Order: sequence, then structure tokens, then C-alpha cells
Amino acid sequence: FSKIEKSNWQENQKEGRRIVEDLTEVYNDLIMEHSMNSYNKKKLENADYSEIGHNPNCGDDLTLEIKLDSENIIEDAAFLGNGCAISSASTAMLIDLIKGKTLDEAKEKVDIFFKMMGQKEKLNSEEMKKLGDAVLMEYVANMPARIKCATLSWHSMEVIINKNENK
Ligand code: ZN
Repeated sequence: FSKIEKSNWQENQKEGRRIVEDLTEVYNDLIMEHSMNSYNKKKLENADYSEIGHNPNCGDDLTLEIKLDSENIIEDAAFLGNGCAISSASTAMLIDLIKGKTLDEAKEKVDIFFKMMGQKEKLNSEEMKKLGDAVLMEYVANMPARIKCATLSWHSMEVIINKNENK
């Protein structure tokens, strides 16, 4: 390296680190915002499905509740229990995403979410759009210890969809 190249490289390194720090901050803010949003943390009256999700690694215990209308549209959804910021935020994101949707649409979103968390294939822009804010959880896919937190309620939703299909 020449002296100039070296100082440019150091500047770029610094800049790179700053961007990562900014992103982490934005990410943390959004996670906190979703996990603090308690409007969908409640008991549903007359829920059709109530599925308990338990993640012993972290201690998350979240129950996902779904109420369907006569056409299998998710009329209301909510969750109960205790979970860390990541599992609570991910659950809140899931609920925001599926409320008012059909079970088939919810299934598509759950499948895309698992594809993203599996990290074998990149999502296309159409798929990313269908996940809304939940695309932020991709960040967690790089933290093996927290993947179970992020996917907990999505697994519960998958169970509910399967139960309804086999009804
Ligand atoms: Zn957790």
C-alpha cells in the first residue's frame, strides 16, 4: 500500500463500521418498536386456534391466537405470554402481516419467511414486499442462538394452517 491508499483504506473501514453501527441502531429501534407495540398482545374472544410456542433455549413462551371468518379470512390475530424482544417483535410483525388475509396468503408469507431464515436462497423483490417489516428478521438469521426466537410464532402459524387444512 502507498501511504494515500492506506489512509483511504482506513477511512473506508471507518465508514463501513459507522454504516454497520447505524444499521444496528435502526434495526434495534424497529425491533423495540414492534416488541413494545402491545395492541396485538391480548386475549382473543372466541379464537378458532390457540397455539402455544415454547423456546426453551431463551425462555420464550408465546401463544398465537387466530380468529377466522366463514371464508377462512383471518379476522383477528393476537398473542399472549412472555418472550424476548426478538420473539415478541417477530410475532407482532407476523400478526400485522396476516390480519385480514386468507389462510392461503398467510401460508405463502410463512413459507417466504422460512426461506429467508434458511438463507439458502435470496428473496426476490416480490417476496420481500410480501414480508413487509418482517424482512428485518433476516438480520437475526445470522445469529444462530436467536433464530428460534424469530421463527417461534411462524412455526405456530404453520401448525394452525396445517390443522385447518386437515380439519
Ligand atoms: Zn427469545
